[in-house]
Amino acid sequence: KPLRVAIMGLGSYGSRVARAMKDCKRAKLVGVISGTPSKIEAWQEEYNIPAKNCYNYETYSQIKDNPDIDAVYVITPNGLHKEHAIGVANAGKHVICEKPMAVNASEAKEMVDACKAAGVKLLIGYRMHFEAKTQEVIKMRMNGEFGKILFFQGLSGFIIGDPTQWRLNYELSGGGAMMDIGIYSINGARYMIGEEPIWVTAQETKNNPEKFKEGVDETIQFQLGFPGGAVASCLSTYSMNNLDKFFLNGLNGFAEMQPSTGYGPIEGRTHKGPLNHPHVTHQTTQMDEMAAIILDGKKPLVPVDGEEGLKDMVIIDAIYKAVKEGRKISLV
Ligand code: NAD
Repeated sequence: KPLRVAIMGLGSYGSRVARAMKDCKRAKLVGVISGTPSKIEAWQEEYNIPAKNCYNYETYSQIKDNPDIDAVYVITPNGLHKEHAIGVANAGKHVICEKPMAVNASEAKEMVDACKAAGVKLLIGYRMHFEAKTQEVIKMRMNGEFGKILFFQGLSGFIIGDPTQWRLNYELSGGGAMMDIGIYSINGARYMIGEEPIWVTAQETKNNPEKFKEGVDETIQFQLGFPGGAVASCLSTYSMNNLDKFFLNGLNGFAEMQPSTGYGPIEGRTHKGPLNHPHVTHQTTQMDEMAAIILDGKKPLVPVDGEEGLKDMVIIDAIYKAVKEGRKISLV
């Protein structure tokens, strides 16, 4: 029996996930939640979704009476994730929520607690955790093949277009590039190094305050210090293209990935040679693996649960604080 999923938020990423799920073996798109009737109609036709599995934002609490939906994938703007994820949990369904899971750690904690109280699973859409080349590097690090890790570099950025989009509206985004793309370098630093950071420093550059209003970060450079002595040096930006690169250096070897988090194919090499794993659409693997986590209790190589998402939100809070106060912020 597959994991029967409804997607909430039929925007650009929701559409990508739906297309990818066509090739899933263990997850199946069976429902939608949308405020736009014309989109619901188009999706019903494209994905053969029965009317009884279609909801809008006023009616989706009724999903609790629908035995044909197991989980809801929340793919709405960041500022709505908390309300939507808790709404789904209260309807008794498992929650898969896009990154960033919320707009700060306190919201993220509320979501973790609400899902626990409701007895449902909460997973965050960290698709890279299931990507084969990424997993190979993580396994090499776990096997000690790089030796003691002392440095990671993460570069995450693209030039954002339309100034009126929700990503540049603080109420809906909760921030700027850091929330959207910088989070890949934060999460990547953690899964590549395999430790939790103990301090943060950060510096902001804002060249276009008209486009990037109060609270919406354009470019932030940040550094994370790890207990084993490693430092991560990262860049998050909405003002430069072609920034999608990870570099991990240990005393006995290295891994270099570019692109490192784009939709793929990921490309990379280590001191042992190129990474050759075939490309599979990330979201197809992700949804099959998430079905196994929810249905079979499978343990992923790197966690994708609410606690994992919360860790990134704590770091994002500390990065913003480091920028604001111009000092090193301790995470312990
Ligand atoms: P989008 O604007 O294309 O889609 C957002 C959807 O939410 C739209 O269909 C919109 O109608 C709907 N929505 C519901 N209530 C809304 C409201 N009050 N205001 C505005 N829109 C509302 O955005 P997207 O690119 O699909 O991003 C959605 C989420 O997915 C974000 O959290 C984003 O960070 C995440 N995302 C993740 C990845 C990834 O690779 N994991 C990639 C892209 C986006």
